[in-house]
Amino acid sequence: MYQQFFLERLIFRLCYPTIVKISLTRRSALVVVDVQNDFLPGGALAVPGGDSVIEPLNKYIGMFAKQGLPVFATRDWHPKQHVSFKEKGGPWPPHCVQNTWGAEISSMLSIPPDVRIVDKAFSPDRDAYSGFQETILDLELRRLGIRRVFIGGLATDYCVKATVLDSLELGFETILLLDAIKGVDVNPGDSENAIKTMILKGAIAITIEDIITS
Ligand SMILES: [Zn+2]
Repeated sequence: MYQQFFLERLIFRLCYPTIVKISLTRRSALVVVDVQNDFLPGGALAVPGGDSVIEPLNKYIGMFAKQGLPVFATRDWHPKQHVSFKEKGGPWPPHCVQNTWGAEISSMLSIPPDVRIVDKAFSPDRDAYSGFQETILDLELRRLGIRRVFIGGLATDYCVKATVLDSLELGFETILLLDAIKGVDVNPGDSENAIKTMILKGAIAITIEDIITS
């Protein structure tokens, strides 16, 4: 875990030698991507070491909750016969089937009682990696007047990447939480490349010590 973290941090430092400090403004929100049982060790589509994101995410969640800032949690929320499943010709084993244990957000995650759940990829014939794709997320963020979106979770090279890129595309200041993401790396280097792409497209990559709370 730490090895990858320092590697990611090094890449970031090489890309952006001056570390920016980011404040939690009143227009900030946290988006926790897909920290569901099936994506954690023991789950149907476990991200190797995926549980390493929980402790740092809990710290971020605590920070946002303390400031009364909104916390969103996305869920992969598939019907039984989903197009992304191997039996339907998709790339993945069945995972995150609606109303099953695997689709539940990990009980180790300290989500606040007023967490806003965002379900995605719930249509049988369409997949969605991004938390913004055919969901309420954009609308909800705008309704709350959010301008700055902090994103962490699983997996770096799929749903985190897609969510970050959509967030940028939609015009939000987008902060990638380097110490609270973990990738699948189906091909070696996928996560590293995903991080590079997100930064090149405008994401600001930080770790928790870069946040200023007032
Ligand atoms: Zn899925």
